[in-house]
Amino acid sequence: MEIAPGVHSIPMPTWTFMGVYVPNVYLVAGEEAALIDSGFEDREAARSRIEYIKGLAPLKLAYIIITHPHPDHIGGCRAIKKATGAQIVMHSLAAAQARRGHRVTGDVLVEDGDVLDIGGIHLEIVDTPGHSPASICIYVKESKILFTGDHILGIGTTVVDAPDGDMTQYIDSLKKLLKYDISLICPGHGPPIHEAERKIEELIAHRGERERQVISCLRQGRKTVAKLVAEIYPELDQRLLELARRQVLAHLRKLVKENKVAVAGEEYALKETVRVIG
Ligand SMILES: [Zn+2]
Repeated sequence: MEIAPGVHSIPMPTWTFMGVYVPNVYLVAGEEAALIDSGFEDREAARSRIEYIKGLAPLKLAYIIITHPHPDHIGGCRAIKKATGAQIVMHSLAAAQARRGHRVTGDVLVEDGDVLDIGGIHLEIVDTPGHSPASICIYVKESKILFTGDHILGIGTTVVDAPDGDMTQYIDSLKKLLKYDISLICPGHGPPIHEAERKIEELIAHRGERERQVISCLRQGRKTVAKLVAEIYPELDQRLLELARRQVLAHLRKLVKENKVAVAGEEYALKETVRVIG
């Protein structure tokens, strides 16, 4: 399915993954093509994607770019590489995790500002750590389309959970994207986003709001992560408890790093010298 000129969203059979968050796999076509992410390591899903790519012949797949080494993004890349001969591209920081966790070796290791040329189309690598330390976005210079992996999702907000996720980096990465002229965001999950700037500003505001909540809880005295979670998410589904715990921890670590909060054992306390407005 072509969602913008030269940009395909490759559908996968719906029965292969029943979750809400089906991963998106995109193909960008110049004289050659690049795949953005590869979905799960699911033989049927990979096969249907390979068929889709082969259906675009004589277009040749040159690269499979992995936005970050999580299983729903990197899982399918070995099968797709085997079938197409494309090179696997990932951030240099992702290489060790990809090899260890997914038995995937990066053929091309990239860093912030690197540009891949697929013949008339230039793909710029934008470092956006936060959701994971090695998360990247891919900016298509010609069409101003931004592929965001899990940094920005089409529905809701992404997971930034300590220790893998880093809230300081995540917010800095969002602010960095505001400097780009973006016509369309193609996220790793969910539908495309047309109002890029507004979406990014909303996400920054959402985290600011959550941070103010954490601070307001801390102001009432020393708090453990468990107490903060209970106050911030009073009616939380128990299955989401661990995730909420790690997200609150990511906020706390940001505040500790900024010297606004002190930590002693399991207890966190707002530093007295900090005056927080709001
Ligand atoms: Zn992820």
